[in-house]
Amino acid sequence: MKRKHEGCAVGIDLGTTYSCVAVWQEQHCRVEIIHNDQGNKITPSCVAFTEEQRLIGDAAKNQASVNPQNTIFDAKRLIGRKFSDPIVQDDLLLWPFKVTAGVNDKPMITVTYKGQEKKLCAEEVSSMVLTKMREIAEAYLESPVKNAVVTVPAYFSDSQRKATIDAGAIAGLNVLRVMNEPTAAAVAYGLDKRTNCVEKRNIFVFDLGGGTFDVSLLTIKDNNFRVKATAGNTHLGGEDFDNRMVNYFVQEFKRKNKLDISGNAKALRRLRIACERAKRSLSFLVVSTIELDSLFEGIDFCSSINRAKFEEINMDLFNECMKCVDSCLTDANMDKSNVDDVVLVGGSSRIPKVQQLLQDFFKGKELCKSINPDEAVAYGAAVQAALLSEDVKNVPKLVLQDVTPLSLGRETIGDIMSVVIPRNTSIPVKKTGTFCTVEDNQSYSLIKVYEGERTRASDNNLLGSFTLSGHTLAPRGHPYDVCFAIDENGVLTVSATEKSTGKMNEITITNYKERMSAEEIKKLIKEAENYHIEDKKFLRKAKAVNALDEYIYKMKDSLKKKDSLKLSSQEIRKIESAIVAATNLFDNQNVEIDVLENYLIGLKSRMDHIIMAMVID
Ligand code: ADP
Ligand code: MG
Repeated sequence: MKRKHEGCAVGIDLGTTYSCVAVWQEQHCRVEIIHNDQGNKITPSCVAFTEEQRLIGDAAKNQASVNPQNTIFDAKRLIGRKFSDPIVQDDLLLWPFKVTAGVNDKPMITVTYKGQEKKLCAEEVSSMVLTKMREIAEAYLESPVKNAVVTVPAYFSDSQRKATIDAGAIAGLNVLRVMNEPTAAAVAYGLDKRTNCVEKRNIFVFDLGGGTFDVSLLTIKDNNFRVKATAGNTHLGGEDFDNRMVNYFVQEFKRKNKLDISGNAKALRRLRIACERAKRSLSFLVVSTIELDSLFEGIDFCSSINRAKFEEINMDLFNECMKCVDSCLTDANMDKSNVDDVVLVGGSSRIPKVQQLLQDFFKGKELCKSINPDEAVAYGAAVQAALLSEDVKNVPKLVLQDVTPLSLGRETIGDIMSVVIPRNTSIPVKKTGTFCTVEDNQSYSLIKVYEGERTRASDNNLLGSFTLSGHTLAPRGHPYDVCFAIDENGVLTVSATEKSTGKMNEITITNYKERMSAEEIKKLIKEAENYHIEDKKFLRKAKAVNALDEYIYKMKDSLKKKDSLKLSSQEIRKIESAIVAATNLFDNQNVEIDVLENYLIGLKSRMDHIIMAMVID
């Protein structure tokens, strides 16, 4: 990578609820977490559309309750999934925005933008968040950013990883690597706390965020980070706790007022925001109150929830987390007493009950809270980005070895899943399985590739299929090889070879119907550019309108001070008529930007010398 020409490579934590961007600062030999235009180090993964403009990040989140149908969050929950996926179907019920099935069952989000209906896929929405993160980094670094390491939950499937890479491409980013979030957090922890870690240490990373839950067990020795096992749930996190609280209060509202607010998007959105806030304060208070004026049909809603109740309504979810912790250790074949450090990552890891259950699980062990749970993932990603940029010199030479989160294999006769690469195998990896034809004189074999842990192939996730043709005519039992290769991104390529002739057929599971084609990506890049142009146009117009407004004010002010300014009656008339004309233009919504800007230039050249006296005064 030619960094001089291409600018810095950044690390982006593309979270379900919040995203964060960081960069390795060569001159200071450390990672810098970059703050956004609002001064915040984390940016809501939220995109909104209005009659006038598109908003991303804080600006989008801040207007969510007045524009719930057109404010999209949680795109990461949709990425790489089908519309009919039961998880998507469950989420739909809670989202205020509309999601429908598109081509090939791809979930499409419908919004109204500038009075027109638009359909967006999850990759497109994620690409908008990535664009925002890129712009935040560019503003800070004062140079273009083209390359990034983007993190994904360790438990993300092959299709979810590929969709994330596609989102990067739409945002104009070259995704150097998709990195597992807990691994990134472990790098942050390892670098920050354990420099010169000579003794081997076993680190357990517990990452409970807004929408996903991930755990990983790593061993660190010297500069080697080796993932032993990973487990998690791509659909478990803070938003689920919020949902439970929302349902709790919806029921209470029903009981108290005999009214059901669950059909009202705006009321639900307001309640959800209040619940999220209450949940956060329950991490340090024992009771939290909710006060919402005129929540539904003019009725005010005022209530409270204590920590014990919050824990009770979420206990099964918390227990689910602990099950994953247990299964990760079992997979790694490690006894809990051998874990040296338990590292907390993700906003929801601040919940006291979660911490207590985790501490109890590890027999009272102190949990490491020393790294910032909101920033650790981006921190690690920035280190990885620097490692992948050849001309960055001062970055510690870490060696990271990750694992594949799900077993990969193919269907064999009788709908059996025949695993070629078991889960938690270190990557990159290449493994070959030998299979046999099942019929006499079989001329081709259909290879259906699946990921998952179920015995029945069809219960797992079908990644794609292809045919190996040209078998030598032979009785059944004729052997052929199927090779599975996973690269550093966790992305899979499968090839099959007829051994006798050497004939080979191969797929990177790119022709899978959910993956975007190069044309589709190109089309979306074009659209992203259009959005960008429109955003800029909107800003330019807003600036011009403001400048005109300010000038009208200045002219009116000069009239008020006409005596001290010693204005002649002719000058006064000139100012008055300029005010009328300018106000007319100001009130005209449809005026073109160029017209507005040129008018302002002309107006200033005619009037400045008359009203400027005021400034000198
Ligand atoms: P993600 O990586 O999924 O985007 P984050 O790690 O940024 O998520 O965590 C966001 C989640 O953490 C949100 O659901 C938020 O409500 C929750 N959260 C943040 N701070 C607290 C807190 N003090 N107590 C409980 N939950 C919190
Ligand atoms: Mg996260």
